[in-house]
Amino acid sequence: MTASDPDCLFCKIVAGELPADKLYEDEQVLAFKDISPQAPFHALVIPKAHLPTLNAFEASQANLAGQLMLVAKQLAAKHALPGYRVAMNVEREGGQLVFHAHLHVLGGRQMRASLG
Ligand code: AMP
Ligand code: ZN
Repeated sequence: MTASDPDCLFCKIVAGELPADKLYEDEQVLAFKDISPQAPFHALVIPKAHLPTLNAFEASQANLAGQLMLVAKQLAAKHALPGYRVAMNVEREGGQLVFHAHLHVLGGRQMRASLG
């Protein structure tokens, strides 16, 4: 498993060195509220291991990739979201700002059909 990166914001949250409003945690995955929500419900679901982007995932980590999606589904159910959006920005050109892979889970309002 990839080690943590001492300079990474989300690794610091995993390590408990920075605060986060945690919504879910298991051995491999952590979910917490986004600090700058783009919707009434905006959570981030991250692998605890430091994987900078989706591009760092290997075939042997398919289970972990799937678990991120299933946690998104569980959060939506727990927070009674009738519909929601799951998105992952990949690399700078994909809009990624924090280089520890994370799924955005957005809901609590009507999501626009367009993805920009
Ligand atoms: P991205 O552009 O996909 O890399 O998104 C990074 C997300 O991380 C943004 O939505 C930020 O609001 C969020 N974020 C940055 N710092 C924190 C933090 N300390 N706790 C929670 N969310 C954060
Ligand atoms: Zn990290």
